[in-house]
Amino acid sequence: MTNNNMIFIANWKMNGEKSHISGINKTIKFLKQSKNKKNQIIYCPPFTLISSVKNKVKNTKIKVGAQNLSQLNDYGAFTGSVNSKLIKSAGGDYVIVGHSEIRNQENDILINKKIHSALKEKLKVILCIGETYKEKKNNKTLSVLKTQITIALKNIKKINNIIFAYEPRWAIGTGKIPKSSELRKNFKDINNIINKLKKNQKYKIIYGGSVNSKNVLELKKINDLKGFLIGSASLRAKNFIDIIKKSTN
Ligand code: PEP
Repeated sequence: MTNNNMIFIANWKMNGEKSHISGINKTIKFLKQSKNKKNQIIYCPPFTLISSVKNKVKNTKIKVGAQNLSQLNDYGAFTGSVNSKLIKSAGGDYVIVGHSEIRNQENDILINKKIHSALKEKLKVILCIGETYKEKKNNKTLSVLKTQITIALKNIKKINNIIFAYEPRWAIGTGKIPKSSELRKNFKDINNIINKLKKNQKYKIIYGGSVNSKNVLELKKINDLKGFLIGSASLRAKNFIDIIKKSTN
């Protein structure tokens, strides 16, 4: 099966120097030659590189996102904080919210405020959800997902600008991925939760957590999986492109 309508998000985390930006040339070249014109590629570099990456991709359909944002809408004396307005003015189109590497400093209510703030500035949201290893072992995955999604979407009317990234927290950066059966069940549960809360709305669910060019062949078989959020394997353009090629062929 050829899949040509997928989302590939590169999360560079706290990495990114000039050499990383020039690597995007390879992705641009690959895109020009690729027959799959409907795939969406989104680069999420650190804040410091958003405008440079935006400049690099300006004549392409590649989008740029931030990795986090402040929940505060207005400018002000908040040293070290970056809000949705600043991301937008730097050239950001998307923002990751609730990433597992930050979730232990944030709660679901704060995540909901961040989503409101992003959508108000017309930033699209990549909302990360997922359970810890302890929660998985204690059969708490479903209730964790339900709580995370329900609170995140409180008072959000339309979810068409939200991408749901199912990222089991124990799978981030560990080289481990869920079994196919677990993924199928969790995707089904996430769909049920969202559909109950927001009837008849369009949205996409992607997967993140130790995706690489080998395991992507197994992962892409999951029904309803519309793309990947990729951390360490996105730092080298070659690996990132390999994942895109293997997912879409
Ligand atoms: C991520 O940063 O969202 C992520 C999935 O990281 P990794 O691919 O390195 O596990």
